[in-house]
Amino acid sequence: MNVLVFAPHPDDDVIGCGGSLAKHVNAGSNVSICYLTSGDSGVRDANRERAAGVREVEATKAAAELGVQDLHFLREPDGFLGESASLVVRLVNLIRQVRPEIAYLPHAADDHTDHIAGHRVVMKALRRASGPWLPEADGEEWATSTILGYEVWTPIQRPTYFEDTTDVFEQQLSALTRHESQVIDVPYADMLRGLAAFRGSRLGSSRKAEAFEVLRLPSSSLTG
Ligand SMILES: [Zn+2]
Repeated sequence: MNVLVFAPHPDDDVIGCGGSLAKHVNAGSNVSICYLTSGDSGVRDANRERAAGVREVEATKAAAELGVQDLHFLREPDGFLGESASLVVRLVNLIRQVRPEIAYLPHAADDHTDHIAGHRVVMKALRRASGPWLPEADGEEWATSTILGYEVWTPIQRPTYFEDTTDVFEQQLSALTRHESQVIDVPYADMLRGLAAFRGSRLGSSRKAEAFEVLRLPSSSLTG
């Protein structure tokens, strides 16, 4: 099975669905991660170019901890992610190249402007990839059958899917610590422990879990 993850910034993938990704790898799936920005405004005292370099190295190390090597850095500007024709074309081409059965992306109301914009542009690309509506794009049409919205900054109000990540949680935490430039400023490990325990409580005592919103593509090309 092919799995494709869309992350507005390096580390969103690990926090939002890192446990699920480790499980996909363990099950023999091919996992690819697409970073929409390289988090290039997120490193203290570093200009965008240097910050992007630092964060792409960190993302590569973190993904390796989860067993993922196929990474795609689109290098949109951190903090200014938006919808452009060229970005949609690049996303559609990637979707048609990877041909994922499952795609992960931020849920629609995750409270960061890049996450909200990322949700919108990726949903549009998933829709456009499935039909003949983008003449500039390459590749054969591909409809992604399962689309899951993950949470980073805003818990999903009514999750519609839970993944038990108890057995891979330490691996996920270890991957998160590879984002060294981030964990020095924000207590991400505490955040992830709390979120995983909160979601795991739905599955039983001492469980860890990730929560998702099962998403559907719009059925009308007018909204795609
Ligand atoms: Zn983010």
